[in-house]
Amino acid sequence: MSDLAQVKDNIRTFSDDSVLSEDELALIKEVSDSLHRLYAVPCTACRYCCADCPQELDIPFFLASYNEYKTGGEKDLSSWRLARLNALPEEKRPSACIGCGHCTAHCPQGLDVPAYMKEMAVLM
Ligand code: SF4
Ligand code: SF4
Repeated sequence: MSDLAQVKDNIRTFSDDSVLSEDELALIKEVSDSLHRLYAVPCTACRYCCADCPQELDIPFFLASYNEYKTGGEKDLSSWRLARLNALPEEKRPSACIGCGHCTAHCPQGLDVPAYMKEMAVLM
């Protein structure tokens, strides 16, 4: 909030304590489910996971590629999105993940990163 008008507007908004209707809740769930389908892995690219990765893997980049693969439509194009990771040195690819779980311990989304790395290593 950057001025008094915005403060007043927010107070007005939150002064109404009526709960959402069943229809409104159903709509929110529908939108939420659609978003989850669209983004296969809800990684926000915050990079909290990166500092403690003993393999120094670019985890958010991998997960972005994984999402592109999952949501890319055409099969050939989708596969290419993961195949391009083969251009990385072997020790920097998803297959270099040792499954230590340090990344998951730092992830605010609680993502099972090692499982995605394992899946990507097979798909590539
Ligand atoms: S589980 Fe894999 S990606 Fe996660 S910190 Fe360990 S080596 Fe890095
Ligand atoms: S900590 Fe989690 S959400 Fe953040 S970049 Fe890493 S995997 Fe993505």
